Amino acid sequence: MNYRKLFRVKPGSHVRLGKIDPSFTAEHKGKKSALAAVEKLDGELRALQYLLYAEGRRSLLICLQALDAAGKDGTINHVLGSMNPQGTRVHGFKVPSHEEAQHDFLWRIEQQAPKKSEIVIFNRSHYEDVLVTRVHNLVPKKTWEARYTMINDFEQRLVASGTHILKFFLHISPEEQLRRFKQRLDDPARHWKISDGDYTERGFWDDYTAAYEDALSQTSTEHAPWFVIPANNKWFRNLAVARIVVETLAALDMQFPAPSVDINEMRRKYHSAELAEEKKIGKKAWQKLIAATDKKNKGDQ
Ligand code: AMP
Ligand code: MG
Repeated sequence: MNYRKLFRVKPGSHVRLGKIDPSFTAEHKGKKSALAAVEKLDGELRALQYLLYAEGRRSLLICLQALDAAGKDGTINHVLGSMNPQGTRVHGFKVPSHEEAQHDFLWRIEQQAPKKSEIVIFNRSHYEDVLVTRVHNLVPKKTWEARYTMINDFEQRLVASGTHILKFFLHISPEEQLRRFKQRLDDPARHWKISDGDYTERGFWDDYTAAYEDALSQTSTEHAPWFVIPANNKWFRNLAVARIVVETLAALDMQFPAPSVDINEMRRKYHSAELAEEKKIGKKAWQKLIAATDKKNKGDQ
C-alpha cells in the first residue's frame, strides 16, 4: 500500500473527518508486525537524513497538528528520534508571546523554517492561527478566512527555495482522548502534561473538527500536502508517519556531493602517512616524505 496516496488529502477535496476511521490500521492486524516495519523504516530514515544533510541542497519541514493527547510528542519521540540530532530540529509553537503577537502571524513561523540540509519538525504551527484562533474567536472571521491563501502562498515560497513540506493531522476519537486523559491521571510521570485547558478544549470538539476540516481542505496542495493519520493506535500512527517521511525522502533522488578534494591524491597522502606511522619516523622525516610524494605526483600529472 502506498501510504502517501492513502492518507493524503487530495488537493481541492473536502475533508470529512467523521468519514475517516481513527482506528484504521491498513494491512497491519496488530502491533507486532508494525513494530518490525517501524524498525526497518527507522534505519532508512536515518540513512536518508544523512544524505539530505550531506547533499546540503534542500530541506524538509514536517508540521504536526492534532487535538490534545493525540500524540504529537510521541510521534516526535518515536519516529523522528531515530535521526541524527545534527541536522534536525524540533520547534514547538505556544500561545504567541507579547512580541510575536505584535507581528503578522507568519513572522514567528518564518524564523523557524529549515535552512538547507535541515529537517525541522513543527510541534503545532501556523495552522493554530486558523484553528484555536477561530474556535475561540480570537480574531474576526474575515481575518482567519484570509489566512488560508496567505498560508498557501507562504508554503509555496518555502518550496520554491528548496524546502519540502509534509503536514500531518493526527486523528483520534473523543473516546480515545478520554482514555489517554485517564492514563495521564493514573501515571504520576505524566501529571505534568495535564492542564485545565485539556477539558475546556474537549468541550469544543465539534468546533475544532469544523476548523480542521476547513484548514485541511483549503491548504492541502500538491507542493505541501496534508495527511490525515489514524492515530487511535500509537503503533500505527508511528508507522504511517515514518513511512510517509521515508517515501517522500526516497523519491527525492538525493546524491552525495562531489568531494571537494582529489581522492586519489588523498589516498597517496594517506599511504605516506601510514608508511611513516609504520616506520615511526620523526615529524621532519615525515614532512620530507610528503613533499617527495607531492613532487612525484606533480611529475605524474
Ligand atoms: P502545548 O502544545 O500543549 O504545549 O500547548 C500549546 C498551547 O498554545 C495550545 O493550547 C495551543 O492552542 C496554543 N497556541 C499555539 N499557537 C497559538 C496561536 N497562534 N494562538 C493562540 N494559541 C496558540
Ligand atoms: Mg497540551
